[in-house]
Amino acid sequence: MFKYIKFYIQKILSAKYIRKGKCNHCGKCCRNILLYVEDDPIKTKEQFEKVKEWEKHYNNFYISGKNESGALLFTCKEIDENNNCKVYFFRGLGCRQYPKVNTKFLINGGKPLDGCGYYFETDKEFKSFL
Ligand code: SF4
Ligand code: SF4
Repeated sequence: MFKYIKFYIQKILSAKYIRKGKCNHCGKCCRNILLYVEDDPIKTKEQFEKVKEWEKHYNNFYISGKNESGALLFTCKEIDENNNCKVYFFRGLGCRQYPKVNTKFLINGGKPLDGCGYYFETDKEFKSFL
């Protein structure tokens, strides 16, 4: 019981990440998308063709690159040449929440894409823990 109380107190007192900044319409988040099969990013064209047979919404994307880990990067077909979303009012939840990242991701050095107008800060300074 004490273990759980300690866990929740630590959770309440620990630093929280706050998203700051704003979108500068660079369009990178719509052009550098990772698509997953189960928990793994798609790495080959063949894998992508196969997965499109049962994940029909993956037809909204086309292959546009590869990252340093060998995972394919996709571009959404709904972005226009001016980086505007053609279905802005009907875009999905993932699009509306970007960049929504979890604390573990940030603690491990993760951050929004380079050039993204958003950034994350903690609500407590490091010295407040000393
Ligand atoms: S639906 Fe719109 S916001 Fe979402 S990835 Fe495509 S272009 Fe970007
Ligand atoms: S990467 Fe960031 S700044 Fe660029 S379009 Fe996406 S949310 Fe906006």
